Formats: sequence, structure tokens, C-alpha cells
Amino acid sequence: MQKKIFLNESDMPTHWYNIVADMPNKPLPPLNPKTKQPVGPEDLAPLFPMELIKQEVSAERYIEIPDEVREIYKIWRPSPLFRATGLEKMLDTPAKIYYKYEGVSPSGSHKPNTAVAQAYYNKMEGVKKITTETGAGQWGTALSFACAQFGIECEVYMVRVSYDQKPYRKIMMNTFGASVYPSPSNRTNAGRAILGKNPDSSGSLGIAISEAIEMAVQNDTTKYALGSVLNHVLLHQTIIGQESIKQLEYAGDYPDVVIAPLGGGSNFAGIAFPFLHDNLVNGKNVRLLAVEPASCPKLTQGEFMYDFGDTAGYTPLLPMYTLGHNFQPAAIHAGGLRYHGASVLCSQLLKDGLIDAVALQQLECFEAGVKFAKSEGVIPAPEATHGIAQVIREAEQAKKEGREKTILFNMCGHGFVDMQAYNDYFEGKLTNHTFGENELKEGLTEIRSMQPSA
Ligand SMILES: *Cc1c(COP(=O)(O)O)cnc(C)c1O
Repeated sequence: MQKKIFLNESDMPTHWYNIVADMPNKPLPPLNPKTKQPVGPEDLAPLFPMELIKQEVSAERYIEIPDEVREIYKIWRPSPLFRATGLEKMLDTPAKIYYKYEGVSPSGSHKPNTAVAQAYYNKMEGVKKITTETGAGQWGTALSFACAQFGIECEVYMVRVSYDQKPYRKIMMNTFGASVYPSPSNRTNAGRAILGKNPDSSGSLGIAISEAIEMAVQNDTTKYALGSVLNHVLLHQTIIGQESIKQLEYAGDYPDVVIAPLGGGSNFAGIAFPFLHDNLVNGKNVRLLAVEPASCPKLTQGEFMYDFGDTAGYTPLLPMYTLGHNFQPAAIHAGGLRYHGASVLCSQLLKDGLIDAVALQQLECFEAGVKFAKSEGVIPAPEATHGIAQVIREAEQAKKEGREKTILFNMCGHGFVDMQAYNDYFEGKLTNHTFGENELKEGLTEIRSMQPSA
């Protein structure tokens, strides 16, 4: 039996797949928070290059991947698909488990799939500098690499607490040539305002976004980039699922269930949307399952409403499953999953019952991550352990029922720069999370008054 299935570079998909073309209910438009009117493409022009704005609102089924982007993708794409034979044996399950491994990319996660595309379109439109925010550092690293490929300056606002606790991510970004500033910084009005009140502020993703946006809008040749949530980001990630379908074809297999962790939704969309196309157009019936942390359960406990994409309220209002933009997730190590909302596309699909979601506690996830490391030899990113924990549940269920089942999951990143998380787990410092009664409803009450009908 083949352990890993490679594709030739010539097998790499030539187009990204746009789920909007096949959605029975199209996504609702983003709204201006003041007028509650739909936001037009021109409103986004100070932040993003026009080609990305076009992709953001496109309903074309397939969008061509530029040759220059495919050329850079070749550094790590097509990424391998593995049969998790070691994990199957450890679990003694009749289930077949496959994983798509995105940890082979330059930054160690799926994020360069969109970072390279975004840097390319910025370069084409004469942009000289891109600003962004990063929490744990995965996105900042991916964008730094992509900017280095195109000779664009990259300026990263890194949440202060991560900047201090995760020095290796910062050094990776510096190695790719990016400037990294702890946020809040004294470079922006937003940062100075926070520091004025609290010089020791540990920062937040919301503040870092505000700083990056402020720097971008001041200069015509500086733009801003986001690593998740937006339609064009999810679009770029669909290369993952398209490759997986081809690789499973070579293996003579097809999944019953496709699993991925969900922070904003980009790696989940990346692997799941091409299979959803098979469901919607080709009569397949694959279960598509997003896994979120129990400490940030927007899909399973949030509500579908208009809300801001950021804490500060700079973005348009987006229709999404949300816990409220002021929701403060617990400081779990899966930093990429600590986001109050889900992307518009994933939210609409969940509302329409076309995808499923489950929330898991972090201790079960780390336990699963360690099992995976021992049996398959790769230490997963804390985010990725969420998918693995659900895979183990499905495989154990298959064993109980004595049923064959084919499981595919997105191994969206390795955890080599997250050793502190594993150490905290081994030292018993991590806990599960429960909410007080009504705690999750508070943030929602606040945003009810912002709804367009209100
Ligand atoms: C950023 C990140 C995530 C969460 O973001 P999505 O857009 O939901 O994919 C998950 N895993 C890893 C490894 C990440 O870097």
C-alpha cells in the first residue's frame, strides 16, 4: 500500500474553485456600519488591489491561477497526501485515514497558498509595501516569505504578548526581510492611544489590525493583507482540496467525511469546498466537518448575524456566525482558532446545512496531537490537533460499529515552532474551558442593535 501520494508539478491545478458559483443561497453583501447599505468595491480600494477586490465579489466558478504564482507554489506544491497507517494501527480501526499535509510550505502551514497570490496581485498593481497583523505568527511568516519573492516591503504588527513569548516566529519573519513591530506600537494613532492609557498593554489581534490598516490607508503604494476570513483568501486555498481529489483518485478512494479545524475558515474551505462541489454538482454525499475550540464556539453556539470582522469596528459589517466582536477568547495555544466569527462563506453554508461543525476541548486535542506525533512522526500545530481529535472520534466510532469508513483531514500545519504549547500540556498547565450561564449571550445582545432591520 502506498504511504504517500505525490502529484507531478504538471498535475497542479490551474484554477482556484469559487464555491459562490454553486451556492444555492448566495452570500449576503457586506454593509456599511453607518448607512447599512452594501459596501461597493471602491470602498475597499484603499486597502486591497483591484484584482483581489474583483475576486472578493466574483461568482465565476473557476479563476485562473497566474503562472507566476504557480511557479512559486512549486517550492512546496503539490503537497503530499499521506495514508495515516500508523495512526490506523494505533487506533486498531477499520477506518481508512488520509491526511493532506500543508506543513511542507515555507512557513509550515497552508497560509502561503494565499500569501503568494496576494503579494502577486499587489506587485502587479505597483504596490511597494504591504502591512498586516499577526497573532501567533503563522500569517506574518507566510506573508513575509511571499513579499520576499516579489521584492515587496512587508510590515507586520505582532500582538505584544506573542512578540514576547514567540521570538522564533519573529526571527523567521526577519529572515524573510520583514519589519516586525510589537502591537500596540507608537507608530500609529491607534497604538499610541492604547499605550497612552496602558503602557504595558499586551495587545490583541483587533488592535494590531487597526494599526496595520492605519498604516496602509495613509499611502497610495501601501496596501493591507488579511490571512483568513475573506472570500478571496478562501478561494486561494481551494488548491488543497482539488489536489486531494486527484490524489485520492490515484489511491482509488473517496472520503465519507472531510475534517479540518476552523479559525476564520480558510484551511477548512480549502480542503472542503472542492468536495462540496462534488456534493452540489456531481451527486456525491460527503460529510464536511469543521472543528472549532470549545473555548471559542462561534459555529456551534454563536448566532448568524451582521457583525464587525475586527474588535475595533473598522471593517464593514459581515453576515456570519459570531460570538460578538468584543468576545475575548481564552488564551488557548491554538492561536489561529481564537477568532470571534467565521467567514461569510462558511457561515452561509452552515446555515444552509451544507457543512457541519463540532466544538472540542483543548485537552482532548493535545492528547490527539501527541498520538499523531507518536504514530505518524509529525508534530501537529495546536490548531491542527483539533481536526485530529475529531478524526480519532470518527475512527473509534467506525470500530465500535465494525464499519469501514474513509476519513480525510487537513493537516494544516506542523507545530515545530509551538513547542511551548506542548510543554505546557505535559506540565499539566492546560485546562478545558466552560462558560458561565449567559456568558456567551452577552456579546450577542450588544450586536443585535446593529442589525440592518433594527
Ligand atoms: C491560521 C491557521 C489556522 C486558522 O485559520 P483558518 O483560516 O481557519 O484556516 C489553522 N491552522 C493553522 C496551522 C493556521 O496557521
